[in-house]
Amino acid sequence: MSALGTTAELDRAIVLALDERPLDGAALKAVLDAARAGTLSSGADADVSFERLLAGARAVRRRHFDNSLHLCAIVNAKSGDCTEDCAFCAQSGSHNTASPRHAFLEPLEIAAAAEAARAAGASRFGIVASGLSLSEADFERLLEAVHLVSQAGLYADVSVGLLTPSRLMRLKNAGLSGVHHNLETAKSFFPQICTTHDYEDDVEAVRLALNTGLFVCCGGIFGLGESWEQRAELGQTLLELGVQNVPVNFLTPIPGTRLEHRSVLSRQEALGILALLRLMLPKANLRVCGGRSAVFGPAGPQPEGGDGQRALFNSGASGFMIGDYLTTSGSPIEADLALARELGLSPTPTPNPARDR
Ligand code: SF4
Repeated sequence: MSALGTTAELDRAIVLALDERPLDGAALKAVLDAARAGTLSSGADADVSFERLLAGARAVRRRHFDNSLHLCAIVNAKSGDCTEDCAFCAQSGSHNTASPRHAFLEPLEIAAAAEAARAAGASRFGIVASGLSLSEADFERLLEAVHLVSQAGLYADVSVGLLTPSRLMRLKNAGLSGVHHNLETAKSFFPQICTTHDYEDDVEAVRLALNTGLFVCCGGIFGLGESWEQRAELGQTLLELGVQNVPVNFLTPIPGTRLEHRSVLSRQEALGILALLRLMLPKANLRVCGGRSAVFGPAGPQPEGGDGQRALFNSGASGFMIGDYLTTSGSPIEADLALARELGLSPTPTPNPARDR
């Protein structure tokens, strides 16, 4: 196809996303070509189509989210010694890393972390535990923590691996607002990332949470070696599931993991991924989580006069995780909030499907 034809298809993709309509095959191909071209720096045409893609993603974000910025925070309630072998993860028992290992925190410790997150502007608070599922004793602690977090005025979310329908109902009755369960990557790439459980187990966990009427946060991690087509494959799976909140993580290669020698994604590639997801999932809340500083540098002023995270805050992303991530440090919260204010973005609570209807 000529450069003119490709541009027309890209513009059509942007119009489809502005109208909340799914991309067809030709539109998706144009988006992928533009995203890929932006990371290859192959001349002026590539730069023009990439800039057009980023501008389109910003326009779609503004159409559906205006200047709102959705902030969330997490606590690592149980860390390390996970039975699973996810190639990127410092908490896998298959890896020898310096990542902290601790048993399930006391509910009051979790509540204190939630209070600090609320004071910093977070509206959602996720309680995260390593492992495929919790023991009965840890599940009881989780129930109490969910109750305390919800009493503190935050939406309480959990990310605790697989949950049975009855555990999910008990959590809901304790005040649970949402479930976070990442698919991590495309089904076709998953066997290269994790061999200890099936992709379908994760898809079923997401379906169960959606069918229970909970807020569901489900996304992945990028920069594991997946292709652009596999990034689109994950986007398509999320679209078909009807997920409306998508955490976007970028790999921070951690010594001792199987992916320790992979490079951090370039800023261009990360922005292209966000643009692809924004056009495929126009109304989904794309929250940038792990890897934000590794890819874009610190949120605050840049010593070399660079623009740091400004491009990211002005991208297709509509939300961010504040505070620390599971096993890596985040940006200082004040720096995030200062940058958001400078760019005219305002922290806005994310509605809860069960309580805000
Ligand atoms: S990503 Fe989750 S399931 Fe996979 S190894 Fe890490 S803690 Fe375990």
